Amino acid sequence: QEPPAAEAVPQAGDEGLLLLRRVGVVDPSSLDDYRAHGGYAALRQAFALGPAGVIREVTDSGLAGRGGAAFPTGRKWRATASQPDRPHFLVCNADESEPGTFKDRVLMEGDPYALVEAMTIAAYAIGAHRGYLYVRGEYPRAISRMQYAVDQARARGLLGDDILGQGYAFDIEIRRGAGAYICGEETALFNSIEGYRGEPRAKPPFPVEKGLFGRPTVENNVETLVNVLPILTMGAPAYAAIGTAGSTGPKLFCVSGAVERPGVYELPFGATLGELLELAGVRDRLRAVLLGGAAGGFVRPDELDVPLTFEGTREAGTTLGSGVVMAFDDTVPLPRLLLRIAEFFRDESCGQCVPCRVGTVRQEEALHRIAERTGAAAAEDIALLREVGRAMRDASICGLGQTAWNAVESAIDRLGAYE
Ligand code: NAD
Ligand code: SF4
Repeated sequence: QEPPAAEAVPQAGDEGLLLLRRVGVVDPSSLDDYRAHGGYAALRQAFALGPAGVIREVTDSGLAGRGGAAFPTGRKWRATASQPDRPHFLVCNADESEPGTFKDRVLMEGDPYALVEAMTIAAYAIGAHRGYLYVRGEYPRAISRMQYAVDQARARGLLGDDILGQGYAFDIEIRRGAGAYICGEETALFNSIEGYRGEPRAKPPFPVEKGLFGRPTVENNVETLVNVLPILTMGAPAYAAIGTAGSTGPKLFCVSGAVERPGVYELPFGATLGELLELAGVRDRLRAVLLGGAAGGFVRPDELDVPLTFEGTREAGTTLGSGVVMAFDDTVPLPRLLLRIAEFFRDESCGQCVPCRVGTVRQEEALHRIAERTGAAAAEDIALLREVGRAMRDASICGLGQTAWNAVESAIDRLGAYE
């Protein structure tokens, strides 16, 4: 059974919508309709520029990864393109599992050919001839639409041995996740594709040197790749003029919770959290907003002027992450909410390293004790949470363990959750 479509509520800055402009407008099953709405202009431009020219444009655009970590995309592409070891691989991470994140789903369901085109451009730039699209298994509609788009593109010479008659070969294989949050971690995702347990690998070496099947690999998030289309059609300078100096371009925000109009919003970087919540119709009695998902942090209602940029949220002591904006009003019991977050991390820890495997259990136990006492925290519980949190942050192998205490810490320190 298909899940209900996540509502996309496009909002444009002065330059208009760039990422959501076709969502809800084109027929997602029609390659002709996609082309009639500007599709494949960016790939033609890529062939005109050549691989090095594409990487230069992406670097000059300032594009940074939209999966959550904001690593410069051009730097990643250049690092892989320059590796002598062959073959190179492209992997698109569509294992969108951060609680409150649903933007990649909207892109894949509403504009699937855009991702096919963007993956083709990325692969061309880095010298890859094979790409994998790893989609979370809970997105059956996205999977079927992407599979159809890949098949149609192949049938029409837009994937395969001689794309657009340019002598360049590239094809895409779709892999379906099986429900593990950790498989969204890039190296666990490689293991999953290779048929091993979905456990993160130690980094370095980074995937740009040793990634999928031990080969140089670029792994990018869906939204990151889709940004490459406007970068090539409008040119890097025009793209870089959108947003702020430190966070260029448009960004998708996933707004949910205590708002009148939850959905995916497209705004240029630099809008404030308050402006975004106004658009979404923030409800009365706002208690807190979780930014960046379960691995992110809370902000208070008196902090809504925080700019939605990588640097602005960092300065405010939180993170933009993958664009999660979850609003909570004062009907939500914070101790229960924090316990739910702790349960999530305990469930999703892969168990490979001790700080995370044991720490997420100890964290949940302490929060459980607190919740049972209807939210009153003993000083020892808070001290234990801090000690366990520090150990997880400092000694865990991957981002899951390193961030499993973020939301709880910010709820204690910024919201006074247990006072
Ligand atoms: P990271 O900072 O370790 O790496 C980010 C990217 O940059 C990776 O691709 C990595 O290989 C690359 N990189 C980093 N340093 C490099 C170097 N020196 N040379 C070459 N490449 C380099 O972050 P991460 O662990 O990959 O991701 C963490 C983020 O994932 C968090 O911010 C979180 O918000 C996000 N996340 C998103 C989802 C989702 O559903 N979208 C789910 C969970 C977590
Ligand atoms: Fe696995 Fe957690 Fe260690 Fe990551 S931090 S490798 S999820 S046990």
